[in-house]
Amino acid sequence: NEGVPDKKVKTTCPFCGVGCNYDLNVREGKVIGVTSNLTSVVNGRLTCVKGRFGIDYIHSPERLTTPLIKKNGEFVAASWDEALELIATRFNEIKSKHGNDALAAISSARCVNEDNYIMQKFMRAVIGTNNVDHCARTCHAPTVAGLAASFGSGAMTNSIGEVADSKVIFLIGGNPTEAHPVIAAKMRQALRKGAKLIVADPRKIELAGKADVFMQLRPGTDIALINGLMHIILKSGWHDLEFIKACTVDFDLVADVVEKYTPEYVQNITGVPAHLLREAARIYATAERAAIFYTLGITEHTCGTDNVMSLANLAMLTGNVGKLNAGVNPMRGQNNVQGSCDMGALPNVYSGYQKVNDPQSQEKFEKAWGVTLSDQIGLMLPDMIDAAVEGTLKAMYVMGEDPVLTDGDANHVRKGFANLEFLVVQNLFMTETGKLADVILPGASFAEKDGTFTNCERRVQRVRKAIEPIGNSLPDWQIIRDLANKMGYPMAYNNASEIMDEMAALSPMFAGLSFERIDENGLQWPVPSKEHPGSQYLHKDGKFTSGAGVFKAIEHQPPGEEPDAEYPFVLTTGRILYHYNITTAGKSKQLTEFRPEEQVMIHPDDAKRLGINNQDMIEVASRRGSVQAKAWVTTDVLPGGIWMSFHFVNAPTNQVTSGFYDKVTKTYEYKVCAVQVAKA
Ligand code: SF4
Repeated sequence: NEGVPDKKVKTTCPFCGVGCNYDLNVREGKVIGVTSNLTSVVNGRLTCVKGRFGIDYIHSPERLTTPLIKKNGEFVAASWDEALELIATRFNEIKSKHGNDALAAISSARCVNEDNYIMQKFMRAVIGTNNVDHCARTCHAPTVAGLAASFGSGAMTNSIGEVADSKVIFLIGGNPTEAHPVIAAKMRQALRKGAKLIVADPRKIELAGKADVFMQLRPGTDIALINGLMHIILKSGWHDLEFIKACTVDFDLVADVVEKYTPEYVQNITGVPAHLLREAARIYATAERAAIFYTLGITEHTCGTDNVMSLANLAMLTGNVGKLNAGVNPMRGQNNVQGSCDMGALPNVYSGYQKVNDPQSQEKFEKAWGVTLSDQIGLMLPDMIDAAVEGTLKAMYVMGEDPVLTDGDANHVRKGFANLEFLVVQNLFMTETGKLADVILPGASFAEKDGTFTNCERRVQRVRKAIEPIGNSLPDWQIIRDLANKMGYPMAYNNASEIMDEMAALSPMFAGLSFERIDENGLQWPVPSKEHPGSQYLHKDGKFTSGAGVFKAIEHQPPGEEPDAEYPFVLTTGRILYHYNITTAGKSKQLTEFRPEEQVMIHPDDAKRLGINNQDMIEVASRRGSVQAKAWVTTDVLPGGIWMSFHFVNAPTNQVTSGFYDKVTKTYEYKVCAVQVAKA
């Protein structure tokens, strides 16, 4: 009977932004497996290899089970009281000596909404600074900024449930087969029902093989490609003038800019043959309904926000917003990256995107929280690192993240953390950032706590406690609550539901949320009242959240770093099917068996020229650092381009990536950096 569960607990997958529901199978206090829960409206019986087999990290022997305090360079086990007392004392000392803004926190898209809400409240109400950010900064911050500027709402316009009934799918800068497998499965369902597929990507991804048109563009040339599509659409009269006139502003500015983006001009920039561009424009613009899907291939560029607004331009030009099976659909990377933004784990907004420098919002939160709040926008994550290197930032509190491995130009990031006077890291495991900490606090995993995640289609769903926290670990919000109380600010939450109630009462777009209402299948925001049924898709009938959709005139821009004689290759990084960022790599035994190590994709022409054979150990070096891994010789990448993931501690790819970032949101340009390649 070893494999027979005592109980099954319906919860939400802790990995990607699809937000699949499934049952955790529990026996004698241990999670022993995952089975489908057919009541899920997001995924039905579908899950992927990560969701199905990756959760053995919960019981990894490497889990942190007690607080640790660094003494004489060594971590020593401590009680919760001792650890929190030390943190409270040091935070208060640094506040008094250097000011509130000498402290900062990194919250986490892996944690539940309630953890994120409490973390931003702690930094604002207890520490007195808006220096709080999280890993959306390193992935989809341009989505939030770009779609908010164009449409008024920084989120996926449509729903995962609509994907299987799509008529035309335009997939650009995303590889859902590996990063969002259940959405990829629904795309394949649509194709079987006759949908057309356009793929634009520098790599020949799996879905490119099923596409009606595949445009293998050079990395960093998305704006030129999109402007080229709009040029053809306008010249062919395929634009929706009625929609443009009734629902948008500034169309003329865009029409002027795209005038010069002829198919031949675009071919020179992107490498995409003109005839493919024409065919893609025809398929997209002449369809009754067409949906755009993208992910970090769009956002992780120096022009990430501009890339997002370009896609919004394309959708508005053809009237493909505000209706079923259409829209602009960012597939958010991490399980709760939408929710952690929604909860205000950002330096410029409270929960519900209420601006910290808006006097009315400030007054509302001051009244609710009983403190005076700062109206100064806080530091974004890369600014925190720079401030730490410069010595103006003195202390940080990092929850559920490992920036030393995950942020661009990792050696610079490490230098920043090493330079802090005081560092607290809260995580499931000892991390590279944790090794630099003064205090380590053990958090509980998703299986050990109640709360909510918000998936990429804006659906707020329940996370349910299935087992007791491992060792002495605690849910993150409880740790922060206890620390706030130690620092003299009363927080009295008994459970995660009470936190959601407070958040909903203060955030008009989430006012209708409660644990009771989302119990069965969640609710998609906006949900502005307790009677509101939630919103399947946004901007219905062209009624944009911002009033009118705003066209933005955008020119092609070169990346922050281009290849040259010394560093002749372009490196692009991304995620692979078998791992989830750095959480599971090496921690999930089952997933590690599927894919144990890093591999560098390199084109056969380049490999031959450099004398590299498949599986040879090679070195990839940039101006910032180098990394070694095995070669994977494949025609899936373009000549002159190489591709790596970033999952492996023993091959830290981000030592090579650049510190260039999107000029609006400071999201690192992980998709383009100049490198040299040689046999190791
Ligand atoms: Fe989890 Fe995403 Fe896989 Fe669904 S598709 S099981 S949410 S990793």
